[in-house]
Amino acid sequence: MIMPNWKYHITFSLVLFVLEIKALETFDIFFSLSQLFILLLFVSFLSVLPDVDTSSSRIRNLLAVFSVSLTVSIFLLIGMERLEYYGFVGIVYLFVRFFPTRHRGITHTLYFGALLCSILSLILWWFGFFKLNETLLVFLILFSSHLSHLVLDKQFK
Ligand SMILES: [Zn+2]
Repeated sequence: MIMPNWKYHITFSLVLFVLEIKALETFDIFFSLSQLFILLLFVSFLSVLPDVDTSSSRIRNLLAVFSVSLTVSIFLLIGMERLEYYGFVGIVYLFVRFFPTRHRGITHTLYFGALLCSILSLILWWFGFFKLNETLLVFLILFSSHLSHLVLDKQFK
């Protein structure tokens, strides 16, 4: 089966992201630069995350490196600089890199996307990156990125 590759997924989700931000601006809803940067990271991450279950080691490796960068960025942003926390980073890498999964399984479902994006939105609110009244918007932006992956894969479950 032909599957869009990760560059295609990231590009598509970033175009969608820019359109969403522009659309929100017409309603006088603006995010700060650092908020946009965080959203950009998560949107890119979520657009390729479903293929974590792919057999190709390249995307697995890319995702593993990306997950580590994301985790380290979050740790630095919230001021978790003690060395112990970086053991967790190693676990994140090994988990993403080697966790055995069936391709196009659970990560390609709307249920997974909705659950993951809810958790991520709440984490971002909890750590003070967004206000509570922005959490729904953040969820929708993140979820649309995951959804864009499913649309490109023409895979709904
Ligand atoms: Zn996929």
